[in-house]
Amino acid sequence: MSSPQTITLSLNPQQLDLLQRCIAAGDAPDLQALAERALREWKDGVPSAKPAAVAKSDSAGLSDRRELLATHVLEPGTGKALEVMQGQVLRIEQVEGGQCADFNCFNLHDYKEFMHVGRTRTLHGFNPGPGDFLWSAPPRERAMMFILADTVRANDVMFPRCSANLYESVYGFARHTNCHDIQSEAQREYGLTPDDVHDSFNLFMNTVISGQRGRIERQTSRAGDHVELLALMDVLAVPNVCGADVMRTSNFSLKPLKVQVFSASEKDSAAVPPLPRWDTQRTPAQFRQKDIKADRALRRDPGYRPEFTNVPLLQSQHPVLLDAAQCELLESFALKQFYGANLGAQLRDVLFSWWEKRYLE
Ligand SMILES: [Zn+2]
Repeated sequence: MSSPQTITLSLNPQQLDLLQRCIAAGDAPDLQALAERALREWKDGVPSAKPAAVAKSDSAGLSDRRELLATHVLEPGTGKALEVMQGQVLRIEQVEGGQCADFNCFNLHDYKEFMHVGRTRTLHGFNPGPGDFLWSAPPRERAMMFILADTVRANDVMFPRCSANLYESVYGFARHTNCHDIQSEAQREYGLTPDDVHDSFNLFMNTVISGQRGRIERQTSRAGDHVELLALMDVLAVPNVCGADVMRTSNFSLKPLKVQVFSASEKDSAAVPPLPRWDTQRTPAQFRQKDIKADRALRRDPGYRPEFTNVPLLQSQHPVLLDAAQCELLESFALKQFYGANLGAQLRDVLFSWWEKRYLE
């Protein structure tokens, strides 16, 4: 039988800030009561905080008229860098069917902002589709394009672009069409180098997760199938015909792809849900190092003084009094296996686990 105990919660300023915001939002009057609530609700299943409803725009009465601005047919082994301005739609379409396209995307006015497949994958899963965004890398983290349409629903953000070395090391080819080199050559039209090619968004690529690994399967796209991307900023969009003819990626043959640019219709624009503007979406104006390195060697800056965020992270101690029943409840969560007899660490785990369930699920 447990007896009442005063448990000391050790929190750094960031952890304390999150809990104080819960208190300010009315979750509990103070830290003591918040800890009691977390204990109680962690046991019973935590009611989540309802997110504010996002008003859906009404597209009735809006025009769906688009204007065709450009058409290109990408032959096997090629790609094309295209300027797609904010409010324009890029359509990538199957000509015969069964062809994978790799895709890169840069801010047209600052190539250092580019699509970040990792964030896109984290937010939208392994198979982004209609209603999802293509995000730029930290620290920019802006929505660059919006997936308006996708008639196949087989896009991949798990696999990297195929490369010359893949075909040499695995298949023994001295030279072989590959997405990296095709992207490099297409991007060269805008002064970018092979080092600027980034992780690709793989359109019409049918992948599954099998155990600990991903696997590429044959695909089912047919002539006319397409993906449409609406530009939310001016971008350099670079689709290419994937060069893989000895894998299942494009059903063992290379076929052309059609790419078109349209002005978005009123209905297209209304389909994009509103996004907040976050303070952490930083621009080069906020960088301490503002210049882009123009040479390749790395040299130490003798004037460098580190300025890391929020350091030093000093812990503060917060007593929480638990009665016998609450102590028993805490013990019942079996957190001892992670924290030993440190009840403060166990209670901290309950608080932040409770927060995740309440605010993220
Ligand atoms: Zn490829």
